[in-house]
Amino acid sequence: MSGINYKAFIIKYGEIAIKGKNRRLFEDALIRQIKHALNPVEGEFIINREQGRIYVETEGEYDYEGTVNALQTVFGIVSFAPAIITENEDIEDLRKEVAEALKSVYSGHSFTFKVDTRRAKKTYPLQSMDINALIGETILAEIDTSKVDVHEPEVMVRVEIRDRVNYYFEEIKGPGGMPVGTNGSAMLLLSGGIDSPVAGYMIAKRGVAINAVYFHAPPYTSDRAKQKVVDLAKIISRYTGPIKLHIVNFTDMQLNIYEKCPHDELTIIMRRYMMRIAEHFAKEENDLGLITGESIGQVASQTMHSLLCTNAVCTLPVYRPLIGMDKQEIVEISEKIGTYETSILPFEDCCTIFVAKHPVTKPRLQNMEASEKKLIGSMEALMEQALSTVEIIEVTP
Ligand code: ATP
Ligand code: MG
Repeated sequence: MSGINYKAFIIKYGEIAIKGKNRRLFEDALIRQIKHALNPVEGEFIINREQGRIYVETEGEYDYEGTVNALQTVFGIVSFAPAIITENEDIEDLRKEVAEALKSVYSGHSFTFKVDTRRAKKTYPLQSMDINALIGETILAEIDTSKVDVHEPEVMVRVEIRDRVNYYFEEIKGPGGMPVGTNGSAMLLLSGGIDSPVAGYMIAKRGVAINAVYFHAPPYTSDRAKQKVVDLAKIISRYTGPIKLHIVNFTDMQLNIYEKCPHDELTIIMRRYMMRIAEHFAKEENDLGLITGESIGQVASQTMHSLLCTNAVCTLPVYRPLIGMDKQEIVEISEKIGTYETSILPFEDCCTIFVAKHPVTKPRLQNMEASEKKLIGSMEALMEQALSTVEIIEVTP
């Protein structure tokens, strides 16, 4: 319905959480992430910080839809408004301009509205209430399908009297959270499933930069299965920023476990080795934790007993943001962030190939440790080999 050629977006972010010197860090990271998100979008963008506001301004032609979509991926943005920054500060010019702009969008439609002015520039000769009344009056006079409703207006006409006066009619929801880069980094164990991309998204939402590790088992798993993980990393990198993806060849380790350990314990033992290797790369990257897509009880390897066994090999904290969620809730998030369609592509997973028909659901730590003793002497070299042949891909959207 937009009849306005917007040239600016006002970015709103959670100001309550960022008092004092954190504010600067928060804003710097937010601006960096906005630039990252707008990088592939057609157009020239200038990002300004003014009086506790961030403005994205455009120079010439640009892709409006693309800009909106990009801003919706930036953590830390609570909402943003396509806005008009005007030179017409004088109230007589301003009220005419606002009414004209509103008319170009809503002309011919009946709607209720309310004018809400914020006056941050204290030298402006009128009070907010007076500005509301004067602009409202002109809107009513200019658009005969408009009506005032101060309680539940359909259109909120917001006017901000600042160093540069601006106004807007619409606010678009952002993803919330904190800008990536304000809270260290962590290593995501990224498989091709539904859960782990969502887990990475959720931790990144709290400002954490993401690295990732994927275990594959060629020739038991195909190149297409690997490509699927790269594609998933690509999708979440729209939100998280660039991801350094470590691809580890797990085949020989897996075969060795398969050969020497009880088959009902395979998944847990494999998981323990994955955690060890993930932690190795995490420490190399100075990451502050590991992330998995586990949720209590979802499968045999995710019972409380199983999680205890997997967790026991880690010294870094393991973050499991999906721990209390049902599958349906996880699916909803994956649909929202755009990973679902890729996650459900039917390629083989490195764990399912060696999976036992009846895995233990209540593994005991001592038993796992005893079984792993059988790997002493054979596993060290294979582990060394897996670490030294890692393939690293810098994933960007
Ligand atoms: P997902 O949907 O994330 O694959 P899942 O429900 O299939 O999870 P599991 O296969 O038991 O569950 O894996 C649990 C977690 O272990 C995953 O969320 C992921 O973090 C990690 N993981 C499993 N397989 C791999 C793999 N091949 N490479 C990297 N991480 C893995
Ligand atoms: Mg999986």
